Amino acid sequence: MKKGRVFSGARPTGRQHLGNYLGAIKNYVALQDDYDCVYCIVDLHALTTMDEFEDLRQNTAEMALDWLAAGIRPAETIMFVQSHVPQVTELHTILSMFTPLGKLTDLPTFKEKVAQSPHNVNYGLVGYPVLMAADIVLYKTDVVPVGVDQASHIEFTREIVRTFNFRTKRQALIEPQMKNTEYPKVLGTDGAQKMGKSLNNHIELAATPAETQAKVMTMVTDPQRQRRTDPGRPEVCNVFSLHKTFSPNDVAMIDSQCRSAGIGCVDCKKLLAKNINAHLEPFRAKRAEIASDHQQVWNVLRDGAKRATAIAERTLAEVKDAVGLP
Ligand code: ADP
Repeated sequence: MKKGRVFSGARPTGRQHLGNYLGAIKNYVALQDDYDCVYCIVDLHALTTMDEFEDLRQNTAEMALDWLAAGIRPAETIMFVQSHVPQVTELHTILSMFTPLGKLTDLPTFKEKVAQSPHNVNYGLVGYPVLMAADIVLYKTDVVPVGVDQASHIEFTREIVRTFNFRTKRQALIEPQMKNTEYPKVLGTDGAQKMGKSLNNHIELAATPAETQAKVMTMVTDPQRQRRTDPGRPEVCNVFSLHKTFSPNDVAMIDSQCRSAGIGCVDCKKLLAKNINAHLEPFRAKRAEIASDHQQVWNVLRDGAKRATAIAERTLAEVKDAVGLP
């Protein structure tokens, strides 16, 4: 017996990296054991910050491929593209009538986005959290896995639900619970900032073993370790943090060898690359197999959209009834 329904959405950012994998995808895969999962590629959300649109379709397919190769099971989990279930836009419009404008413009995430791209402060950007709330409640979500940066948006969703249910005197919508994710922040190859594509400090899951090794070799280690003979400090080294995940059998040896300067950073990184590549080997094989049939990923997404639509239609009917739409 599953514990309820989980929903999570992620913007189609194309090929995923180790940060996405450890921070989100691994958790998506694990949640399938305990929950009915609904995982959505939120392409409409992506439009709010895009200047050019030609890569959107490709990025959607690449991300879906990564999810499938990492272990999302599409026969049980509903995996789909947001815009394939247009009921979400209708619910977004209705929920927007229950959302004070000032709340949206006061959100720190909105202010950050304005600061990032002052040339493109569009209407969709203001309504982003309302669309996110619509995503969550449309699928009668019980639980949303969140990192700390998203907590305010889920709280915001809960407020809209309370307002809606109170004002319509119905309980049409479910107030979702937050489930904090375990792996909050993977640093990039610079060892300083969160791994991400925009900083080009990322390591792609689908990269070849040679590309992965080349990227790992650029990783910044303990800055105090200038010479090969200097002892290192694993606790400040991002290579070591990744060893903790990818080298369970070597981690104790690396810890002591680094501290005593028994192993140098170059060899330490070579070992990390080898272990990451070994870990990702089954992922890459599965990815290549799915990608060999171009239609397969879209078939999965279309099937997911069909099953998502069935839930969405029911919720939307209840919502329309609650607000008296004829
Ligand atoms: P989105 O805007 O949809 O969150 P991102 O690509 O920024 O798109 O992130 C997708 C998911 O991967 C999110 O759950 C995010 O927290 C996680 N993630 C991305 N980068 C990292 C990272 N460096 N460390 C941990 N988690 C990450």
